[in-house]
Amino acid sequence: MPSPIALALHGGAGNLARYAGTGRLELAEEMLNNLVRTLHQGLIGGSSALDVATLAVMAMEDSGLFHAGKGSSPNSKGYVELDASIMNGRERTAGSIAAATNMKNPIKAARYVMEQTQQVLIVGPEADLLTRASGSEIVAPDYFVPCDEVGVALPSMGTVGAVVLDLSGDVVAATSTGGTLRKRAGRVGDAPIIGAGTYAVNNVGGVSCTGVGEYFLRTSAASRVIARMDLLGESPGAASGSILSEITEMGGSGGMIVIDHRGTVAMPYSTQGMYRASIDARGTIVVGCL
Ligand code: ASP
Repeated sequence: MPSPIALALHGGAGNLARYAGTGRLELAEEMLNNLVRTLHQGLIGGSSALDVATLAVMAMEDSGLFHAGKGSSPNSKGYVELDASIMNGRERTAGSIAAATNMKNPIKAARYVMEQTQQVLIVGPEADLLTRASGSEIVAPDYFVPCDEVGVALPSMGTVGAVVLDLSGDVVAATSTGGTLRKRAGRVGDAPIIGAGTYAVNNVGGVSCTGVGEYFLRTSAASRVIARMDLLGESPGAASGSILSEITEMGGSGGMIVIDHRGTVAMPYSTQGMYRASIDARGTIVVGCL
């Protein structure tokens, strides 16, 4: 029996309400709407969760609409530092890169670490050295066009992520970010940390997070959502809601996308919006931002 299929995408949580009336929310929604439908067709046709999650994140990195890949904003010293991770729930293999500066598609470098090295996390200049081998283009600093110039003065953030369940029952979660805006140079958030920003276990589910990364690190957010679903039998909605409430109580904010092995989707957030799109096992399509 083939597994149910499902996929969920996010383009970051934050104060999106401030873009109302600028056309920007509509642009992002249209992009996510097209992307989720195209990728779903691929899944129906037998594409692997690994390929679909990689393609999803690459498309969002390249779009320039989110704080990841092209749209990333510079850190406190004026240059972009990129973090990304990917985890395959089949054997719990995982790869990530952090504080990289020269790659067009950080998610490709993370996948390269997962598939071609014995390590899980490679950082800084050594991550930059993997760019070409990973199949990502090398880009110069002027490639990056902060998607949110107007937001630089405001507390803001943004990330992209994908969680995919394929016909074989494989669950893959992937996350990529330029980090929180104006982050301290050298600062690394939850996105490249397996168990905090990204986690996937076959027969349970997958999670990709967005928000103030320090809180997701301090709560081991992604892995604890999966643990609750696994050990307590909670739904994606209940498990993610419980961890997000913990984060809110601690003073943090953000959101996450979660899929379980039955193809149930939850996309909760505690901010004034999260770019998101999903198609669950029943074929129900959800696209939204506020
Ligand atoms: N979680 C990311 C980080 O802390 C930022 C975000 O999702 O907006 O780097």
